[in-house]
Amino acid sequence: MGTGGGGVSRQESPSMLRVVNPATGELIATLPAATADDVAKAAEQARQVFEAGVWSGLPVRERAAVLLRLAALMERDAEILARLDSEDAGKPIAECRAGDVPGAVEAIRWFAEAADKVFGRLAPTGRDDLGLISREPVGVVAAILPWNYPLAMAAWKVGPALAAGNCLLLKPAEATPRSALHLADLAAEAGLPEGVLTVLPGHGPVAGTALARSSVVGALSFTGSTAVGRRILKDAADSNFKRVSLEMGGKSPQVLMADAIAYGDELIDGMIEAAFLTMGQNCTAGSRVLVHESIADEVLARFTAAAKKLVIGDPAHPRTQMGPLIDHAAFSRVAKVVEAARADGARIHTAGLPDDLPALGAYYPPTVITQAPEGSDVLTKELFGPVVTVQTFTTEAQAIRMANATAYGLAASVWTRDLDAAFRLARGIHAGVVSVNCYSEGDITAPFGGWKESGFGGAEKSTNAFEQWTREKTVWIRTR
Ligand code: NAD
Repeated sequence: MGTGGGGVSRQESPSMLRVVNPATGELIATLPAATADDVAKAAEQARQVFEAGVWSGLPVRERAAVLLRLAALMERDAEILARLDSEDAGKPIAECRAGDVPGAVEAIRWFAEAADKVFGRLAPTGRDDLGLISREPVGVVAAILPWNYPLAMAAWKVGPALAAGNCLLLKPAEATPRSALHLADLAAEAGLPEGVLTVLPGHGPVAGTALARSSVVGALSFTGSTAVGRRILKDAADSNFKRVSLEMGGKSPQVLMADAIAYGDELIDGMIEAAFLTMGQNCTAGSRVLVHESIADEVLARFTAAAKKLVIGDPAHPRTQMGPLIDHAAFSRVAKVVEAARADGARIHTAGLPDDLPALGAYYPPTVITQAPEGSDVLTKELFGPVVTVQTFTTEAQAIRMANATAYGLAASVWTRDLDAAFRLARGIHAGVVSVNCYSEGDITAPFGGWKESGFGGAEKSTNAFEQWTREKTVWIRTR
């Protein structure tokens, strides 16, 4: 079952980053890794650029014009950007072309267009006072990114942070720095002044920690694992109390009521996308199917049959639907939890892997698990791989209890034709995003973020993002 050893090695070196194609093990690039000193220098340069006002002091529509040019250049280079993410992360090129890159362009464009629609407020004073409440950029801000949606996550941060007038220090994940570097080149071509966007490829414990502990950085947005998010919050408290926004892991349920079967292939396709997009290395992956017992046998048969048909192969091939995991450590982590579930009596359904896969990729087959013992790791821990559990329920209340039975609260999907039931489930499920009769995080207009140990909730996308990257100031004027 897959390739468990050797191959993809990014070998920790404090001074270098090795960018390796997860499908082939091929070394794509070697980059100097940002040191704590590099971070401090970049932060100081960003502070000076911010205070000089060459960006923060521009009329907001001029900032928007630069970002709109950036979006157009990203469209021009869409194929280059898609290939960079596909090669660095092992993501199927079709997924990068259809999802990641157009989504990133849309985010930059949407925040550029929204920037001059964010107004301050006026306090309800008596006639002798004027209370002006304005929104101002934070100054020097930072973002730390994961490897699973490198360009898309960069765009969610770059768009609102720059539109609001900040100078941004952006740290991509170790494995996937190249699309962020290309984005910075395009931003320069679009006319962004030097020092407004600085990309700092580097190791998390070094460059990431330096950002989290910096006393120059006023706000930090993090997307990644819950363990690192916890660390960053502590570092912020131990340094300058920078504002931190955390978007972290998930263990999201897909709840199928008895009447969901009426959606037929649409249901099965939605379940497959939820479970196996980006090989299940997706923060909102619907990794727990909760199905009404009356339709469980039919759903399981159709779902496992569809999973077995997924095209697994070279991510560079346009027909490929599933590539390798990010590396062999991820493979071992996933395999260990699945094997523990098997040893505890769970049933594992998989078609295995095709014979002709690139030799060094950490390919893991789409896997469906039934009869996992209650409380087992496979039901509660985020695996970040193409592994889905299926559990049955009999009542709506039981479905809600099961949906909420993890420490996470990022997303959920609910399938039913009964609108009342859909509302009751959506209200009862503790998650930042609940999609009904589809698998979706909503579009760029809708807030995104998790509850519970998935994060602070709703800080990304939509006009909420401006709250993350700005702060309010009250100016109180006596007018007599
Ligand atoms: P990760 O937490 O290992 O790394 C994320 C980033 O944090 C990387 O850039 C890494 O270099 C950096 N980092 C590592 N240690 C650090 C430290 N001590 N201080 C500061 N920065 C540090 O996560 P990952 O493996 O890259 O991504 C997978 C995780 O991201 C999953 O848990 C997934 O659910 C989550 N994720 C969440 C969302 C969301 O929006 N909620 C989106 C994508 C991914």
